[in-house]
Amino acid sequence: MISLFINKLSVSHFLLIILVIVKMASQGAVDMQKTIAKAFTINGVGLHSGKDFQAVVSPAPCNTGIQFKRDDVLHCDYTRITPYNVSSTQLATTIDCGGLPISTIEHFSAAFYGLGIDNAYISVSGTEVPILDGSAKIIMEHIEQAGIKEQKEKRKVLKVTRPVSIEYEGKTVEITPCDNFQITFELDYPHPAIGRQVFTYNYDENTFHKEIGIARTFGFKREVEALWAMGLAKGGSLDNAIVLDDEKGVLNQEGLRFANEFVRHKILDMFGDLALIGYRLQGSIKASKSGHQVNNVFARALLEATNSYVIEEEKENKTVKEQPAKVCTAYENLTQNIAISAI
Ligand SMILES: [Zn+2]
Repeated sequence: MISLFINKLSVSHFLLIILVIVKMASQGAVDMQKTIAKAFTINGVGLHSGKDFQAVVSPAPCNTGIQFKRDDVLHCDYTRITPYNVSSTQLATTIDCGGLPISTIEHFSAAFYGLGIDNAYISVSGTEVPILDGSAKIIMEHIEQAGIKEQKEKRKVLKVTRPVSIEYEGKTVEITPCDNFQITFELDYPHPAIGRQVFTYNYDENTFHKEIGIARTFGFKREVEALWAMGLAKGGSLDNAIVLDDEKGVLNQEGLRFANEFVRHKILDMFGDLALIGYRLQGSIKASKSGHQVNNVFARALLEATNSYVIEEEKENKTVKEQPAKVCTAYENLTQNIAISAI
């Protein structure tokens, strides 16, 4: 009887040890910083100019973050992207690299965050990264093909401890404490193919590609034509956006990738814009009708609400005191007009 009890105890202890080992191993897989295993090159047309551009993505050491540079200009150094580098949000998110613009970076930054890449260098041949198919699909495929390499230092997590919210002309973003990172987005467009869409995505490196990353950007035919008339969005076409006609609906022959592809893309854009914060995020976001401009102001507001979060090394209660460095102040006037609430 006693030996049976010991055997039972041993079996239960054995199972417990296995469980602990499995848990530690799975935590280890998400704890450490990551980069890509080898460099790759992506070519394609730019949304704004319609010209061909090349982006070379290379592995980077721990704590590099995501850094861009222009390789069509001599002596241009890599610049780590932060919300304070954003110099324009017209049509897309444009960053300032040593005084030079690089546009449409948000699907690249979303792909890196989404697949768990903390560190990478991106060297761009001109003013824009390629728009590709209007989603992060092709970038994610290149990352997966190159392989993902775990590095030797732990990730840092911005863990929200108190709510932070902003409101601007009916557009709102709020983040509240949560055990993981999730985004609930609501959009409402007066078009029969869109209407009101609400979607919640609980972030997981393993589902990001198929749930969010492949959702394409969208535009209305009449607005695209107006942009063309102004000399903008020259590269915009049915190859890199869902285009909607007022009467005919979706003009793309292949139709939609999801019934609610529109709201999923808005979540993809939010990943791309908030990735500039430079930490893994822990909190629950509720956003309504937000776009690149309000996303960027929110990213700045969150970083500056230093009483509303702690920076932790993942899975450790080690608080690292770090203050974000401000680089440019392109949105100073805008932030003054936006109602920011941080307790
Ligand atoms: Zn987008």
